[in-house]
Formats: sequence, C-alpha cells, structure tokens
Amino acid sequence: MPRALSAAIAALTLTTAVTTVTGAPGQAATTGWGRPHVSAATPTPGSPGLGDSYFPDYGNGGYDVDHYDIRLRYEPATDRLSGTTTILAAATQDLSRFNLDFALDVESVRVNGLVAGFARAGDHELVVTPTRTLLKGQQLTVVVKYAGIPSQTKVYGYTGWTRTADGALAVNEPESTWWWYPSNDHPKDKATWDISVSVPTGVEVISNGVQPRDPLPEAGNRTRWSWRSVKPGATYQSFLAIGQYDIVTDTAPNGQPVVNAYSTTLGERGPAARASIERTAEIVDWESGVFGPYPFEAQGGVAGPIDGISFALETQTRPVYGPGFWRRGSNPYVVVHENAHQWFGDSVSVADWRNIWLNEGFASYAEWLWSEEQDEGTAQELFDFTYDYYPADSEFWQVLPGDPGADRVFDDAVYDRGAMALHQIRLAVGDPAFFRILRTWTAQHQYGNGTIEQFQALAEQIAGRDLDAVFTTWLFTAGRPEVGAAARTSAAPARPASWSKIRTAHDLLHR
Ligand SMILES: [Zn+2]
Repeated sequence: MPRALSAAIAALTLTTAVTTVTGAPGQAATTGWGRPHVSAATPTPGSPGLGDSYFPDYGNGGYDVDHYDIRLRYEPATDRLSGTTTILAAATQDLSRFNLDFALDVESVRVNGLVAGFARAGDHELVVTPTRTLLKGQQLTVVVKYAGIPSQTKVYGYTGWTRTADGALAVNEPESTWWWYPSNDHPKDKATWDISVSVPTGVEVISNGVQPRDPLPEAGNRTRWSWRSVKPGATYQSFLAIGQYDIVTDTAPNGQPVVNAYSTTLGERGPAARASIERTAEIVDWESGVFGPYPFEAQGGVAGPIDGISFALETQTRPVYGPGFWRRGSNPYVVVHENAHQWFGDSVSVADWRNIWLNEGFASYAEWLWSEEQDEGTAQELFDFTYDYYPADSEFWQVLPGDPGADRVFDDAVYDRGAMALHQIRLAVGDPAFFRILRTWTAQHQYGNGTIEQFQALAEQIAGRDLDAVFTTWLFTAGRPEVGAAARTSAAPARPASWSKIRTAHDLLHR
C-alpha cells in the first residue's frame, strides 16, 4: 500500500453535476424480457458513491456487478491502452442513470445492446444514461469502449498506473481500476474477472487467477494473454503486470496451480526475489493450517521491475512485490504478509475503508506467527520489542488503528499497533479460542465483507466474555496503553531474530 492520493481525495467534496449527456433517455420502461412494466417508483439516478466514511464517492449505487470481461490492447512503446470492457451486473433499484468509476477517454457505451449517453462528472466518475430506464432486478450488460495513455491520465494530479521501461503495472489501493477498466470501485461490490491483453510478441502479461488458454498469437506479431478469476474479488485486488518476465509454474501442496513471475530487470536482486516468492506455496500451506482453507483457485507472486512500484500489494491469488523488499536479501515475511491478506483483505474485505485494521493488523500479525513458527522470535517477544520501539511520546501512539482517518489508512500504527491489538486479544481469550475466532471469521465472511464491530461480536461470542476493554484500549484510544509487568517477557526485551526482516518489510509497506 500506497499513497498520498487518499488524503487529497478525502478532502475534496463530491462532484455530482453532469456536464454533457449525449443520447436521450427513453420513455418506455421494459423488463429484461421486453414486457411492459409498471413501476410504482419513479426511476432515479444511482448514487455517485457508496457512502464510504473515508472515500464517499468510491464505488457507485444502483447496481451490483457480477463479472468484468476486460479485453485490452497495450503498446509498451507509447503507453497507449485501448479496449472494451463488458460488465455484467444487476440493477438494485429502478435506474434512470448510473455511474462507473473511470478516468480514460471513452468512445462509446452500450447498455443491453443500445447506445447509451455518457458524460464525465468530477475526475473519475463516468455517468451512463441508458436509452431505456432500467428496472430493479434487471440484468445489465454494459459495454464500454475506450482508449488513453494511463500514465498521463491524472486524477487529482495522481495516476495509479505505473509505466516502466519495458511495460507497466496496474497495482494500487484503494483506487485501482480508474486507469484500465471502468468499474464499481469499492470492495463492497465484488465480481469475477476475465482479463485479456494483446501485446507485442515477446512481452509477458501477468494477472490474477488461472490461464484459461495459452498465449494466443495474433496478427501483426502480437500475442494475446488471457487470465481468469473464478472467485469474487474486490476491484483493487485485480492487477496487470506487463513487461519482461521469467514465469515459473508449479503445483502447490493442495494441487492448485502456482504461477510466479520475475522481472528480468531485477539484476542482482533476482535470486533474493526467487528465494522469497518461491516459498509462496509453502507459506500458503502453513497459513491454510492457521486461518482455514485457502479461499482462491491459484497461487503465486510477481516480482515487479526495478523501476516499478515501491510497495507490495495483496492482489488476489498473486501478490505483486516492489524491488525494495529484496535489497538486503530474501524476505519471506513480506510473502507471509501479502498471502495472509488472501484471507484478511481479499476473501474477507473491508465493508468500509475505516476497517483497514481487519486487513493490515491481521496480515502483520501473521508475520509474528510465522516468526514464532520459524523459531525467530515469539509473538510475545515481538510485542514486547515493538512496544518499546515506539516511545510513549511518539506520534505513533496518537493514530487509532480502528479509525486512522482517510490520510492514514496505511500508517505504521495500523500495522504495528494493529498486530499488538491482536496479540492482546489472543492473550485475553487464550490460544484455542483465538485461532477458532480467526478460522470462524474467514469462514463466515468468505468472499464477503466485514467490520471491526462484527469481528468483536464474533470474538466475544466464541470467547464467551465481553472484550470491549481490550478493543477500545488497543484500537480506539490515543496514547500508549499501560501493559503490566506480568504481561511482558522482560523489562528490556531482546531484539527478535525476525525483527530486521519484518522492519524492512514494514518500512516499505507503510506509506
Ligand atoms: Zn498489508
């Protein structure tokens, strides 16, 4: 996790004004089968956002997406991206118009076969006005044709598309798809994806899930790469990595395909990247034993290029890692972190970005559990050392992991104090209840969303006791909490062997 855009956007007010609408909405409402329909309610516009407490205009109301079919053509030499995305969705209200989140230039929009009007509102809203009113429950097929230069398409001065010397990366959180496909860009609307990209032959394209077919030669010395995700995911978990990659395939212990990809630009960092990412299947196998069955259909990782992203992201089935993680040797801790997100973040996603602790606190605590497993320091030792690492008067203790604010969703506190909070919950309920809480949480909310309040309720139910004091103290109260001597291993804890690897990972993950 990135970046500074969140803060800029959070500070801006919603722009809902529609400037120009081409095409006119029709009068006659019909059902999906063409029968006349009499609706009690007057069709209204879908809302331009889902009301997220940090990013209110992210996502859109009035419909729910089932699937994105994203068919692209990319030119690494010019960064020109063109293509067609077909969205399969259902209306959740009688709709006069609806929004998509998208920033590239649009050529045309069709809704259920008919040309639709479209217009920009604000910097990332595409307002679509169908020729016919859409009825609640009606199936929608939305076809958007578009083209643009994503690295030069700035939203509030920012682009989440990273152009590199040999290609590009579409990897970003919380906003991700504005620069490569139109979407309902909020974790509350999950969907499956088919993603295919035509590139000059010799360029590799990596994305989520499995390859439904081998790369297909096309006219003009081009090759089309196809990827498919069969489990629903949040839009920010989809990604593209385009460039020069060595692809290593294998079979995981659970029989699933493993696809790892290594940028050929990594040079002397390449072996450390491989020594880390090649452990993905082993790590996922271990995490499956701790968190419950792995929720997705494939595994892997992408070691991004030397001039790419500076962070890592838990893109579904296949995290993408920046080159910094391999600067001082291998680092399986970041692989543990990003793959723990497959349960905490990807399968169970935040219902609102305020709940970011459910992602980052848990993925960070997974690193402490791995350290314990590897005999490189127990979670208790890491707790103690982290507690002392941040002095009581540090700004660190002023950020609330349970409600950090839109400009601090990736703050140190969300990760480190977030992991400390989980350790305190573990101490409060005991190991058997704690790990049962984690496995029940991932099972109950699989492919869905969650809130901190729901997690607390589940923890209290399984533990059979009120846990409000520990949640309030560790997630929602500024200042360094008091920890009694009995709850520490020693007054001056030794530095755990895992500390420097975890620190290296977190210094790059925290933005
Ligand atoms: Zn993370």
